[in-house]
Amino acid sequence: MKLDNFIHKKWMIRAIRLASLGRGFTSPNPLVGAVILDKKGKLISEGFHQKSGMPHAEAMAFNNLKDDPSGGTLYVNLEPCCHRGKTPPCVDRIISSGINKVFVSIKDPDLRVAGKGIRLLENAGIEVNLGLCEKESLELNKSFIYRNLNGCSYGVLKWAMSIDGRVGLKNGESKWITTEKSRSLVHKLRADFDAIIIGGNTLRKDNPILTTRGLKKIEPLRVVFTRTLDLPIKAKLWDTELSNTLIVYDSSTANEGYLKRIPNNVL
Ligand SMILES: [Zn+2]
Repeated sequence: MKLDNFIHKKWMIRAIRLASLGRGFTSPNPLVGAVILDKKGKLISEGFHQKSGMPHAEAMAFNNLKDDPSGGTLYVNLEPCCHRGKTPPCVDRIISSGINKVFVSIKDPDLRVAGKGIRLLENAGIEVNLGLCEKESLELNKSFIYRNLNGCSYGVLKWAMSIDGRVGLKNGESKWITTEKSRSLVHKLRADFDAIIIGGNTLRKDNPILTTRGLKKIEPLRVVFTRTLDLPIKAKLWDTELSNTLIVYDSSTANEGYLKRIPNNVL
């Protein structure tokens, strides 16, 4: 790898690491980090998108500038936006800053952007390099990309299974077949998602709590899918102090009389 490429990659990896600091907080927005160098290649600012409604990564980096960015370089792991959402378009800010080189990992799949952000930068005379650390950036924002391309949420199916393909004893006596380490990993994985879904049987048999154990300030929504609505009168999920619980049932098969068992604080 040429030295130049190595240096560019180093800064983009830094932008990706910054982006990942927003993990669990930015939804429905993507994870984005931005790094700005001055014309001599010195780091003069950086930022990341912290939360939906807060400034985008590029805007945060411009707000934190320690020096003049004109003639400098911006590294950002997702194409800068060109539409006005809750915050103004980042493309305008980049153009007016005088930066003349932008490295972008991947295009934004959001149809309001989808290459237009890059075109606007190029039309303004800025050199845009697309594709640096593409693999890492696709992985980082896989749920955001999936939702934009397919119009539905990205889901992960999780279960614990023994090496002979079993999930528990038939008589229900087995409790944990996982270790403390794997359970703590599950809490970490949950923090990346907006909702955790279980079926009615899991609620009846396991009475789970389904939180991240404090890893995420806003706990994911806990969702129960049930055909019968035959859910227990007492359940940990009925305590909504930690997180909201949502019941989804099929009115053609459920006994709606059971609804009165479910506390009012449950959605
Ligand atoms: Zn933006």
